[in-house]
Amino acid sequence: MLRSFLLYLSERETPKNLLTHHALGRRLASRFIAGEELEDALRTVRQLTAEGFEVTLDCLGESVHEAAAAEEACRTYQAILDRLAAENLRSHVSVKLTQLGLALDEALAIRHLQAICERAARHHNFVRVDMESSAYTEATLRVFRAANAPRDILGIALQAYLYRSEKDVEELLRCGARIRLVKGAYKEPPEVAFPRKRDVDGNFQKLTEKLLSSEVYHAIATHDARLIAATQAFAKAHNISPDRYEFQLLYGIRRQLQRDLLRQGMRVRVYVPYGRQWYAYFMRRLAERPANLLFLLRNLFRA
Ligand SMILES: Cc1cc2nc3c(=O)[nH]c(=O)nc-3n(C[C@H](O)[C@H](O)[C@H](O)COP(=O)(O)OP(=O)(O)OC[C@H]3O[C@@H](n4cnc5c(N)ncnc54)[C@H](O)[C@@H]3O)c2cc1C
Repeated sequence: MLRSFLLYLSERETPKNLLTHHALGRRLASRFIAGEELEDALRTVRQLTAEGFEVTLDCLGESVHEAAAAEEACRTYQAILDRLAAENLRSHVSVKLTQLGLALDEALAIRHLQAICERAARHHNFVRVDMESSAYTEATLRVFRAANAPRDILGIALQAYLYRSEKDVEELLRCGARIRLVKGAYKEPPEVAFPRKRDVDGNFQKLTEKLLSSEVYHAIATHDARLIAATQAFAKAHNISPDRYEFQLLYGIRRQLQRDLLRQGMRVRVYVPYGRQWYAYFMRRLAERPANLLFLLRNLFRA
């Protein structure tokens, strides 16, 4: 109930304006967002890489409805890639296709994704396409394929809560794509996604095993300690060494678990979001854990 309500709010303008135009809103969001400017994000990248983490940077933004905004997002990502290279910083980038114009014109999103991949290739870097709501799954996969970038330049995320993902994993594995597996963060109807957490977790484990059994380097993205342990146990039982895959976790979530995994010799990539368009991302993080809402309310009343 609460999750659905928060996800509903994540798409509404009034609470967005209330929260984003208020210093308190920015302070609350800072738990999950590295800052509003690229400099803030780069500082975080430096700190994390010094600790031994890998990073992927996300310049927040989605559901763009003007070509000029999509253009600007494309240029921003190119500039981020240039800056990472100039400073010799170890970080990939993660992009949302609706930020690159997917909701406007698929051909535009393809052109932008290609331009970003070309820049990434020039710097020997890597671009990951985030997966958005199921309204965009098919188009996201089409754009990913149409971009036709080599697998060491471009990868994609798939969501274990969607019934279709098992088939998508199989098809993408056949063309050697690099996949980030996540549970899924959007509000989806039972016609397309498993409504029960138990089934989502079961599918996550099943798909993880398919990914690890392939020859390609994939990312298992979760904060679920049970699924992380199951992944490690499966890898050990099948002689898959820890450098053949990586775990990914979000900035600000389960930091001790992130450090513990590093200490165990695992590869750990932290997804670092930054930028002014943090509202929808922030609301999805609240929706994932009701306790986060209590934390927010406590701070609201203290202010
Ligand atoms: C690197 C990365 C990239 C992602 N990319 C995408 C994407 O492209 N598309 C997409 O739909 N989703 C994406 N997600 C989000 C994902 O789909 C889940 O919504 C999110 O990871 C929560 O699920 P979980 O696997 O951590 O498991 P859960 O069962 O939700 O959580 C397991 C435990 O983790 C902790 N936890 C989880 N979430 C939070 C939180 N918000 N605050 C505090 N503690 C928390 C809690 O202790 C919880 O018990 C991504 C997640 C990660 C880690």
